Amino acid sequence: MAEMEEPMVVDGVGGGSCEWEGRWNHVTKFLERSGPFTHPDFEPSTEALSGFRNIDVVDMDTIDVSNLNRQFLFRSKDVGRPKADVAADFINSRIPGCRVVPHFKKIQDLDETFYRRFHIIVCGLDSIVARRWMNGMLISLLVYEDGEVDQTSIIPLVDGGTEGFKGNARVILPGLTACIDCTLELYPPQINFPMCTIATMPRLPEHCIEYVRILLWPKEMPFGDAIALDGDDPEHIQWVFQRSLERAAEFSITGVTYRLTQGEHKTAHLLPVCVLTTLFSAFCDAAACATEVFKLATSAYVPLCNYMVFNDVDGLYTYTFEAERKENCSACSQIPQDLGFSPSSTLQEVLNYLTESVSLQMKSPAITAKVEGKSKTLYLQSVASIEQRTRPNLSKTLRDLGLKDGQELAVADVTSPQTMLFRLCFTS
Ligand SMILES: [Zn+2]
Repeated sequence: MAEMEEPMVVDGVGGGSCEWEGRWNHVTKFLERSGPFTHPDFEPSTEALSGFRNIDVVDMDTIDVSNLNRQFLFRSKDVGRPKADVAADFINSRIPGCRVVPHFKKIQDLDETFYRRFHIIVCGLDSIVARRWMNGMLISLLVYEDGEVDQTSIIPLVDGGTEGFKGNARVILPGLTACIDCTLELYPPQINFPMCTIATMPRLPEHCIEYVRILLWPKEMPFGDAIALDGDDPEHIQWVFQRSLERAAEFSITGVTYRLTQGEHKTAHLLPVCVLTTLFSAFCDAAACATEVFKLATSAYVPLCNYMVFNDVDGLYTYTFEAERKENCSACSQIPQDLGFSPSSTLQEVLNYLTESVSLQMKSPAITAKVEGKSKTLYLQSVASIEQRTRPNLSKTLRDLGLKDGQELAVADVTSPQTMLFRLCFTS
C-alpha cells in the first residue's frame, strides 16, 4: 500500500534542477483547460502543475523470487530485501524531485498521528482484515460536529485489488460514502476462524483444514524442519488433505475435499500463460487508482462514484456502480449496534454471531463488559493465558455472567483499530 502526503505540489516555474522543458505537458492538458467531464467547481489554471512529490509507502514483505514476474520495480538482485525499500529507491532514483519514504512495517504498526499526516491514502492490500483496519483508522480520524462530519477531517481512501483476472478500484470518502464495512457482504465469507473453534470444536470442513494447516503442520513438520507449507506443492496439499480427512472423521464432519483444501490455502496457482494477463489486471488496477488519486488531488474531474470492477477473463469488461452506505454500518455509522440475545444464550453464541454474521465477520473478538462498575474481560483469545482463564465463560449464560438488558459490550478485533460498542438487548 502507499499513502500520499501532500499529494499535489504546486510547482512554480523553474522549480530547481530537476525540471526540464515539457516535463508536465501531459498533466497541464488536464489542468489548464475545461472539458465535458471536469468537476463542476473546477477552474482551469495556468499555474497548476502536478506531481505527487511526497509519498510514504508501507509494506511488511520482503521480495521473493516469485514476486519478480508481475511488476517492474524489483530485480533479481533485490530478492530478500524489503519491498518498500526497493520500491522507494527505484522511484526516488527514476523520478527527479519525488521523495518516497519507505516503512518496512505492517500498516497496524503505525498509529493515528502517522496516518493523520496524509491527504490521500491508497491501499493495495491483499487482505480484507487489513483493509478493514485501514478503513477503521480513517473513520476514527473523523471529527463530528452536531452529528455532521467535518469535511476537513476526511482523508479519502482509494482502494484497489486484483485477484487473477479480476480487479476492483473504489473511492471511499469516510463518513460520506460507502466504506469497506458497509459492503462487507461483497467479500467472500471469512477464511480465518476463531482459534478455539479450530482447536477444540470444529463444525465445518474448513475448520478441520485450518486445524491441520495452522496447528498440525508446525508441530509435525512433515517435510522436514523449517519447511513452510507451500500451497503450490501438490505433496504438501495432499498431506494437509489426508490429515484434514482424519480430523473430519473424528468429529463426523463431511465435505473435506482436495479442492477445498487447495482453496483454503488460497493459492493463486498461476500457469505461465496467465502471468501476462494477471499482470494486465494489476496494471489496470494501478492505473485506475492513480487516476482517482489525481482526480481527488486536483479536483479537476469528478472522482469515481464509487466502485469499479473489471474482469479480463474473456475480453475486457468493466462496470461501475455506486455502493451504498449502510445505515447501521458497524464501522462508519454513528449508531450503536444492538445485539439481540436471550438471557439464557451463552457467551459462545454471542462470539459465534460476531464471527459468523456477514456484516461483522470478526476474526478473534475480545469481549469486555462493565459489570458492577468494573470493566471485566469476558473472553479474549489473543493472549494464551487470558484465553485459558476466560474460556469457561464461553459456556456460561449471559444472565450467569451478570449481564443486564441494555448492557454495553465493548468488542475489540483485528479488523478495526477501534473498540466497537454494542448494546445487549435481551429478547425473551
Ligand atoms: Zn460503513
